[in-house]
Amino acid sequence: MEEDKTLYIAGMKSQSLVDEPGYTVAMIYLQGCNLDCGFCHNSSLIPMFTAKSKKTSIAQLLEKLEDNFLIDGVIFTGGEPTLQQNLLHFVKALSEKYKVIGVDTNGTNPKLLAEVSPFVTRIAMDVKCAFEYYEKVVGKKVDLEKIKASIDFLCKRSRESGRVEFRMVYAPPVISIEDVMAVAEYLSLKGFTGKFKSYFVIQQYIPSDGVREDRRKLYQTMIFDKLQIIAQNVKKYGIPVAIRCQEKGYFIID
Ligand code: SF4
Repeated sequence: MEEDKTLYIAGMKSQSLVDEPGYTVAMIYLQGCNLDCGFCHNSSLIPMFTAKSKKTSIAQLLEKLEDNFLIDGVIFTGGEPTLQQNLLHFVKALSEKYKVIGVDTNGTNPKLLAEVSPFVTRIAMDVKCAFEYYEKVVGKKVDLEKIKASIDFLCKRSRESGRVEFRMVYAPPVISIEDVMAVAEYLSLKGFTGKFKSYFVIQQYIPSDGVREDRRKLYQTMIFDKLQIIAQNVKKYGIPVAIRCQEKGYFIID
């Protein structure tokens, strides 16, 4: 086992029942993100380095997880986990011990995603909006070819090798129904399937404390009933759809 590799870890939630349906997982929050989404609920994790983030080795992380008997696995989230190349060494090492290993991503590093893919049980990629509005929504210059390459790769993974979630926060008026439909259509064209329990997940916007105060009110929170109507419309593209919201948790649309 490789023990000298480190990651900048901002914090850990020792148990989550909602981040990987059917499993109890520990959430590992990696510091740093290359985007600046206005609705980000972990905005304190955007700077690459902070006084709170710690360089943590694989051995140190395993030691922290050691007494956590109830977990089935771990999810690497952030921030943007794929900014740190050592993620690969961590998922390899942890996959030897746990049955569930997940990575959350914004899709800006398709190369590292492809490298970690064989060692993880699910990859969740946020797709923010229709491509023409991307830079406005994520607040940064972004290489859309890399976003598209990640989507292509993950659609292929959903057909051939493992679970994928494409996630989209529905947050009007900035993220509209048209955005949701454009993304759903694109996923359908790219051959996204529901094999391995993969889903396109429409997420409720929650104005939590993690969202920067000056941006919190720029977006509306949609109730479950409205999300369900949108999700039913998305079904016409023939892709698997679910909703994640406060009222129902993780809700699969039949
Ligand atoms: S990509 Fe994710 S972590 Fe980064 S700013 Fe956007 S919502 Fe926040």
